[in-house]
Amino acid sequence: METHVLIIGGGIAGLSLAWQLAPTVPVILVEAERTLSYHTSSRSARQMQPGYGPAPIQELTHRSIALVEQISAGLSSPILIPRHLMTLGTVAEVQALVAAHSSLTGLDQAQTMHRSPDLRPETFEAAALDETAHEVDVPALLDFYRREAVAAGAVFLTEHPVTAVEATGAGFTVTAGGHTIEARIVVNAAGAWADTVAQMAGARPRGLRPYRRSVAIVSTQFPVDPAGPMVEPADESFYYRPDGGHLLISPCESVLAEPGDAQVVEADIAQLIQRIDAVTTLGITGVVRAWTGLRTQPADGLPVVGMDTEEPNFFWLAGQSGYGIQTSAALATMAAQLVTGTLPDEDSALAAALSPQRAGLN
Ligand SMILES: Cc1cc2nc3c(=O)[nH]c(=O)nc-3n(C[C@H](O)[C@H](O)[C@H](O)COP(=O)(O)OP(=O)(O)OC[C@H]3O[C@@H](n4cnc5c(N)ncnc54)[C@H](O)[C@@H]3O)c2cc1C
Repeated sequence: METHVLIIGGGIAGLSLAWQLAPTVPVILVEAERTLSYHTSSRSARQMQPGYGPAPIQELTHRSIALVEQISAGLSSPILIPRHLMTLGTVAEVQALVAAHSSLTGLDQAQTMHRSPDLRPETFEAAALDETAHEVDVPALLDFYRREAVAAGAVFLTEHPVTAVEATGAGFTVTAGGHTIEARIVVNAAGAWADTVAQMAGARPRGLRPYRRSVAIVSTQFPVDPAGPMVEPADESFYYRPDGGHLLISPCESVLAEPGDAQVVEADIAQLIQRIDAVTTLGITGVVRAWTGLRTQPADGLPVVGMDTEEPNFFWLAGQSGYGIQTSAALATMAAQLVTGTLPDEDSALAAALSPQRAGLN
């Protein structure tokens, strides 16, 4: 088999890049697991929050929301729905947040209670409200990327773990699932395994480390308002939001892990339930299901995107940390422009901030 671009990894990074590249160049995507998006991309909280993360992430999130709005408009049901974010704190904490982020509005305690009547008023003084935040139907978005890529001619091979990547001078010979694939360009979209894949190809690892984070869906004694906001404290030590008649909750842990099939630590969820019961009157009655995923990032917390100048034709699309869903559409657009040499000049500073050659990696 041969192709122009071989993408390693069938999570949201690989699928979104296939969507962007397939209309222009031949693409094969290989995924180790039996199903696409088995790892982190199916384990997120499904949020797109333009106020979350460092400046390059905020820019990519704004752009992605606009792109996903267009995608959503062409589908039979909307996949992007407003889900306001309320950050609770003291008056001073909320004033500081509102001063730092133009998208936030300050609410006093009564206004906050009006928007979320199940809060316990004695646990906060005020809130910062972000009305630009959204919830996204991630399975539908992943399916859109896959369908569009396949319609444009991309080939997806699941159960094809990459076990060898050998530079040939003109590109790479890749061994995946027992097959040999010749590729001009190899894209490393391997999530928690990105440094492992880089080493296989002879490229310098960039210090990408996976950190586990969990989410649980819980039932409650009193009904959850489906249109209610996502709620977090100012120190971002947990969050919760309505989810299909239940509550989606996360302890926001960030614990260094090995690449693999991350599993829930039940004590984390039990502790979190106590914390949320202390701030709301909803009364959590049980865990419906829970999952854990790996948020992978380098030391400076920004994604690693671009051609590796030390290992020619080896392209990085990794290290999206907790932002891989909310940035996928714009990041894939930029990555495809970098692969095809069509990046607009006005985006060169943004690309430099994410470059695998930037200082501070490894
Ligand atoms: C609890 C939690 C909540 C989150 N919430 C949000 C959120 O609300 N919003 C947001 O934007 N982000 C969120 N994230 C982060 C987001 O989910 C990730 O940034 C994103 O899914 C990363 O996508 P990926 O494609 O890089 O990785 P993955 O989805 O892990 O895909 C990488 C793929 O590469 C494959 N692979 C690895 N090695 C090989 C090999 N040798 N051969 C072939 N295939 C290989 C793996 O099997 C895997 O399928 C959250 C993450 C977690 C854990």
